[in-house]
Amino acid sequence: MGTDQSNEERDAGVHTLPMTVEFAGRELTITPTLVESERGLVLIDVGPEGTVDPLRTHLRSLGYALEDIWLVVLTHHDADHAGGVAALLEHVDAVVATHREEAPYVTGDRDPLKGDGNRYPPVDVDLELTGGVRIPTLAGPMDVVDTPGHAPGHISLHFPEDGLLLAGDALVADGNDPLSGPKPEFTPDMDRALESVSTLADLEIEHVVCFHGGYVDRSSERLREIAADRA
Ligand SMILES: [Zn+2]
Repeated sequence: MGTDQSNEERDAGVHTLPMTVEFAGRELTITPTLVESERGLVLIDVGPEGTVDPLRTHLRSLGYALEDIWLVVLTHHDADHAGGVAALLEHVDAVVATHREEAPYVTGDRDPLKGDGNRYPPVDVDLELTGGVRIPTLAGPMDVVDTPGHAPGHISLHFPEDGLLLAGDALVADGNDPLSGPKPEFTPDMDRALESVSTLADLEIEHVVCFHGGYVDRSSERLREIAADRA
């Protein structure tokens, strides 16, 4: 789990930012990811409220400041991914992007689907994404992949040149299995979520970063197993 030497060598320009934060009355270990680009830093998921300090510490250790973030990409609107965006935007004027089906939950037009109606501070979404959008980074092109199921407009990010997948919550790595499908108890549409795992299995993937569980050396082959097991 987390960032190790080999990870850094393999995926230049991509940095996992593991941190343990308080969320919904318990300790939660999460893995936002930082991607370098010529325009500045791209942050994939922010975490819940309370992540500004650990984000700042991580960025500092990489030689950056919060102000260097130009783009925040949310894989989906769940509070443990998006709840901290408003606090982050007090420190940096970053562009906020998420899938168009997730946007209304982030902006406050709709209440989040999980969390018993508890509303995190809403923020404006500047850019609505959809599968097939390609963002240039120092780790090569970063492709947006539609992976609905865990959330209506959940997206994952794929780096075809490195075979790296930032899975968000489309996959998890914090259970007994080194890599498994999304958690049924937090996944309103499990059938779609497993279809999404099949979609991912068709991509060239050598390693995966899960928001819950961090970095794992598992490939497309494991994704095909997960999709087949549940079918
Ligand atoms: Zn989630």
